[in-house]
Amino acid sequence: MLTDVEIAQSTEMEPIKKVAERLGLNEDDLELYGKYKAKISLDTISKVKDHENGKLILVTAINPTPAGEGKTTTMIGLSQALNKMGKKSVVAMREPSLGPCFGIKGGAAGGGYAQVVPMEDINLHFTGDIHAITTANNLIAAMLDNSIQQGNPLDIDTRQIVWKRCVDLNDRALRHIVVGLGGKANGVPREDGFDISVASEVMAILCLATSLTDLKQRAARMIVAYNHAGEPVTVDDIHATGAVTLLLKDAIKPNLVQTLDHTPVFVHGGPFANIAHGCNSVMATTLAMKLGDYAITEAGFGADLGAEKFLDIKCRQANLNPDAVVIVATIRALKMHGGLNKKELDHEDLEALSKGVENLKKHIENIQKYGLPSVVAINAFPTDTDAELQLLKKTCEEMGVDVAISQVWAKGADGGLELAEKLLDILDTKESHYHPIYDLDAPIDQKIETIVKEIYGGDGVIFTKKAKNKLKKLTAQGLGNLPVCIAKTQYSLSDDPTLLGRPSGFEVTVNDLIPNTGAGFIVAIAGSIMRMPGLPKVPAADKMDIDEDGKIVGLF
Ligand code: ADP
Ligand code: MG
Repeated sequence: MLTDVEIAQSTEMEPIKKVAERLGLNEDDLELYGKYKAKISLDTISKVKDHENGKLILVTAINPTPAGEGKTTTMIGLSQALNKMGKKSVVAMREPSLGPCFGIKGGAAGGGYAQVVPMEDINLHFTGDIHAITTANNLIAAMLDNSIQQGNPLDIDTRQIVWKRCVDLNDRALRHIVVGLGGKANGVPREDGFDISVASEVMAILCLATSLTDLKQRAARMIVAYNHAGEPVTVDDIHATGAVTLLLKDAIKPNLVQTLDHTPVFVHGGPFANIAHGCNSVMATTLAMKLGDYAITEAGFGADLGAEKFLDIKCRQANLNPDAVVIVATIRALKMHGGLNKKELDHEDLEALSKGVENLKKHIENIQKYGLPSVVAINAFPTDTDAELQLLKKTCEEMGVDVAISQVWAKGADGGLELAEKLLDILDTKESHYHPIYDLDAPIDQKIETIVKEIYGGDGVIFTKKAKNKLKKLTAQGLGNLPVCIAKTQYSLSDDPTLLGRPSGFEVTVNDLIPNTGAGFIVAIAGSIMRMPGLPKVPAADKMDIDEDGKIVGLF
């Protein structure tokens, strides 16, 4: 069997100019990054802004397990299938972070015969967007420390600096550090730390911005520290707004690439869904809707994280009206939710499957709560048995939800035709009554409680003393009407990663609330969640290599 990178490198790509032509774009609309990658110019984005919107379809999934779910793979395969059926379908997806790429997961450009290419570029430095974000973030940190060094005119309290440095790698040694050592000439010593770039607020504002001006206004508002009177100090206060926007002038433009069968894909912006808001850029999603009849997008991890944030934060802020949702599930992962461990997944086990399917049921119910029609995509693995597939199909049918088996990983477009037909059918016959799950004018604690009770299925929320103080402070600062972005484990519907399936009777603990005033949300830290991941015992990087001829191994 060929690896993902072997499949990708054995397919001939089309020049990106040709892919763009099928979207009605010509060379003047593109900023070329070599032959196979291009950014779309801001002029073109404003030129198409009055085009009619295509349908917007979100791809989400059950809670992830080490068995793998395949949202990205399913989304790409679905788009390939729609295009094969003669439909104009465009994908908008996230840029992979180097952290998971060299850590546990490997690449994030799809898999098997449903991939986006050039996958080795997309998975590595691509067009440099994440580097630009990292640099913009770290420029803010440098200017902040410099302001303190140069007499501290803003009276910044060095014990209340909330801006972290960042790097796009899994590097646990940088979580807690001390900067400014070495005497007077080398800065003011203070505790600091690094987050992974994709958890930074700069990534969030890039993904939520609708124009360069909007990006600049968001950058200006970001809080970096508090002064000795407890008042916020912003990026604008340290005079970094202009330079930060300048550093992001190209990163803000969506990147165009192609699937293995040359259908157009925008890959742009890549926040994680557990520690950030988990969706690709608003500009890429909007562009996909303007240029395609079907815009397919993905939100990270399970529907409790990515889809919730897509529906409560992104769609609300950007005025997007999704039309349908695809919920990806695998028999293997559901059996893990039913109690099996990773080594026991190769045998038929209907009992574990029927227990684990409760996790899927909860996510189906949740999507219904948002007023959205959905279709379940069973991402087929060779180990699935007929009896297992039938049991899963029957469960969905009993819930009145459409279901299709997707074989896009093994067969590409052909493996996605059943799913594509089901999707087109629900788009024709079922109406979307999309609405967010909470009102913005509800108090912050109530908004969190609504998510915990309605979406996670918990009994309530415990706010630690620190979180309670922050609740008061943020409300007094007039930030009470922002949406909440919950930072939580992806593995469970609860805040405890070991509670699989459909847990009940649990409470979620909120330890801290952090205002992201540029992004326009309050981050609620639930349970113990790291904003800088670590590498596993044997990282994916261990097996990666490239030879003299450019042949790559280990990039999945
Ligand atoms: P997600 O977007 O949900 O994180 P991906 O689509 O990136 O998941 O898939 C995760 C991994 O699982 C990838 O390496 C992909 O190649 C693999 N994968 C996905 N679907 C299948 C399948 N049906 N059979 C085998 N491997 C698969
Ligand atoms: Mg993915």
